[in-house]
Amino acid sequence: MTEPQTGPLTGPLTGPLTGPLTGPLTGPAPGTAAGAEAGSEGLAAVIDRVRADVARLHAELIRYGLVVWTAGNVSGRVPGADLFVIKPSGVDYDELTPASMILCDLDGTVIKGSPGSELSPSSDTAAHAYVYRNMPEVGGVVHTHSTYATAWAARGEPIPCVITGMADEFGGEIPVGPFAIIGDDSIGRGIVGTLAGHRSRAVLMRGHGVFTIGQNARDAVKAAVMTEDVARTIHIARQGGELGSIAPEAIDSLFARYQNVYGQPSKGAMH
Ligand SMILES: [Zn+2]
Repeated sequence: MTEPQTGPLTGPLTGPLTGPLTGPLTGPAPGTAAGAEAGSEGLAAVIDRVRADVARLHAELIRYGLVVWTAGNVSGRVPGADLFVIKPSGVDYDELTPASMILCDLDGTVIKGSPGSELSPSSDTAAHAYVYRNMPEVGGVVHTHSTYATAWAARGEPIPCVITGMADEFGGEIPVGPFAIIGDDSIGRGIVGTLAGHRSRAVLMRGHGVFTIGQNARDAVKAAVMTEDVARTIHIARQGGELGSIAPEAIDSLFARYQNVYGQPSKGAMH
């Protein structure tokens, strides 16, 4: 007999996601367009908080079974500045620290001399940067190849909204974006082109994987967790027979309630 395995998708979203802010102080980012912030000390503290958040949130990708090896990445916008923080490329998840997160401008260029700048940023940095440049309401971006969601992406099939939890969270189907090769703006263009004006905070990039957006990095991570959860449930449902459906009016009502009434402010819809 083996112990029953605890599914990675069953844990509550609590604890580490709301932990205290930690991490070493970073200096002011020299030579950036970050002048929007009142003082350099204030900006340094804000960057610090985002570094700590983004570093810590990568552990959630592991906890919920969304990534293997060094795949996947989280980024967070620095509020009040044209900057964001993203994971370095090819570094083990266990070794990610606030100081090894990489500070970039909105063109995806690493800010020279900032902590972590000796490392290469995630190979998806251009895609994240494109989203921040073109969707000012977005404060966090996550990318994974989580298994069930990527299986839908491999088929190029949107995930239909057939359960209330998905109506709550996504307000409809999770759409499929175009096939795009890594290395230039094409992934970013595909994400923005698919999600702009869409209720869903997740897109299945055809033949690739999941990108999610959120009001901040934590919100985007939550969307990535929920995407895999509904991808898995609805895949399993379909193995047993034909899927049911939820009337569009009911989806609208569920989405409106969840986004506006349930819980606390700051969750949910981007639009
Ligand atoms: Zn990828």
